[in-house]
Amino acid sequence: MLSFREGGDRKNILTIDVEDWYMDTDISTWDSYEDRVVQCTQKVLEILDETNTEATFFVVGYVAEHFPELIKDIKNKRHEIGTHGYSHTSIKMQTASEFEKDLLKSIKILEEITKDKIKGHRACEFSIGEETSLTIDILKKNGLKYDSSVFQ
Ligand SMILES: [Zn+2]
Repeated sequence: MLSFREGGDRKNILTIDVEDWYMDTDISTWDSYEDRVVQCTQKVLEILDETNTEATFFVVGYVAEHFPELIKDIKNKRHEIGTHGYSHTSIKMQTASEFEKDLLKSIKILEEITKDKIKGHRACEFSIGEETSLTIDILKKNGLKYDSSVFQ
C-alpha cells in the first residue's frame, strides 16, 4: 500500500472500496438500479484533495467497466487503484476457478483503463479466511503483490 511504497513516517493507511449501494444483490439486477458511485466517489476525492490525503481505492470491475472516467480521475489524483473483483461476489460463494475468472476480468478492465499493473486485492465482504485461504495462491499466481481481505 502507499505507506509501504513510499516509506516515511506515515501512521495510517486509508483504503476505500469503490462499489455502488446495490452491489450486494445479484449482478443480473444491477442495471435496474440508480447509480450513485460516481457522485459519492467524486465527493470522497474532493475531501482527499482538501486534506492532501492519498488512499488506495479497491474498485469493483463492473464499476470500472461502466465508469472508466471515474477510474481515470482516481488515478490522475495519484491514488493507488486495486481490484475488488469484477462482480462483488463473496469468495465463499465461488469455486477457485470462478474466483480466478472474476479476478482476471477485473484486472484486465482496470489495467486497460489505468495503463498500470494492478498490485492490490480486496475480496468482497473481506471473505478470505482459513477456509478460503487457497485464493491467496491464485492472487500470487496472477501477479498481485498484496491482499487486504483479512478482517478480524
Ligand atoms: Zn465491497
